[in-house]
Amino acid sequence: MLKKKILAFLLTIIFCLTFFYTDSIIELFTNKSDEDSETLDNINKDNTIPPEKTTSSHMIAVGDNLIHGRIYWEAQQDTTDGSYDFSEAYQNIAPYILDADIASINQETVMDNTQEPSHYPMFNSPIELAYELNEIGFDVISVANNHMFDKGTNGLKNSLELLQSYDDFTVVGAYLNEEAYDDIPIIESNDITFSFLAATQLVNGFSIDPNYGVIVKVIDTEENQQALLNQVTTANQISDVVVVNIHWGDEYNTIPNEFQTSYAQALVDAGADIIIGHHPHIIQPIETLTNLEGEEAIVAYSLGNFLSTQDEGNRMLGGLLDIIVEKTGDKIDIVSCKLKPIITHYTQGSFNVTNYMYSDYTPELASTHGVIEYTPTFSMSYIYEMISNVIDEEYLPEDFILADK
Ligand SMILES: [Zn+2]
Repeated sequence: MLKKKILAFLLTIIFCLTFFYTDSIIELFTNKSDEDSETLDNINKDNTIPPEKTTSSHMIAVGDNLIHGRIYWEAQQDTTDGSYDFSEAYQNIAPYILDADIASINQETVMDNTQEPSHYPMFNSPIELAYELNEIGFDVISVANNHMFDKGTNGLKNSLELLQSYDDFTVVGAYLNEEAYDDIPIIESNDITFSFLAATQLVNGFSIDPNYGVIVKVIDTEENQQALLNQVTTANQISDVVVVNIHWGDEYNTIPNEFQTSYAQALVDAGADIIIGHHPHIIQPIETLTNLEGEEAIVAYSLGNFLSTQDEGNRMLGGLLDIIVEKTGDKIDIVSCKLKPIITHYTQGSFNVTNYMYSDYTPELASTHGVIEYTPTFSMSYIYEMISNVIDEEYLPEDFILADK
């Protein structure tokens, strides 16, 4: 009887020891992260707060989606019923857009179904374009630019209503009423909140017809410049990251003008974290600016064209701004900011228009680019030099810097 009791006692001890060590042994061999057990230890022993978790979000932005006639004519040739299918134009770049948590674009042309499609100088694009932008994963559609009134305030209003019929779109830069203007849109991505604002400095001499109720605050007056700064301040209070799309600068000039540099600093001082510039149709530098509290912000002065059939080599080169934002507790960090070059490609006569990431572009494609007719030196080395002359190396991806094409 005593033996049995001793045996039971010993078995209990062995069982307990096995149970206790098994956990440690499993941990040792499975290389299980120590974080969880350490966190528990911290709470249990030291009564300290566990480390704050870090989340991250991947945001991208591109420049001018400038739909020239050739682009929509080709889109129409891809269907048999007279409608438009833009999927071929974007097929090479779509995976990179879909890959992001948030993707932003400057939609340079309106889409008004009540008027015929048209091209330069007064653009109107088929509404199937909106469908395609949605299909390839754009979330933020900035409509504030110098072509927004090409089809009148009515055209802009119809275009806004079309874009807003897509639940996935956040449309910024023109608003259907004052309430919408005041209601700054926020997108939450992996626990990080991004607010979006947009404005243009230029509207090609057009003015808004007040009869339609549409709100556009063109930042060509001090009053409207201040209004945007005020919105940035508000956005900064209600979100983690303030993103401003802005249409400004001198066309075909790689150097930001005085307004761009001074207003960028004012936006950053008001609380902007990321400024996405466009309009010059070619790329301009990226800079890190610092606000009065010493916090850093990114300004991409111009991302160039996303898609167009313009006719000079440098207008074929745009950029995909690729940003990773991290949040730890309340602290926000832009941990990576790169410009990934984009090439709009077409064959002679502006046929087969499509855009590529530089990483997918080849010397063979470059040698058949229709733009060689206008820029005979267009080649991989032309692209490389143009990009590396404008964009500081710290903002270029490693595969570009190391490229040997
Ligand atoms: Zn423009």
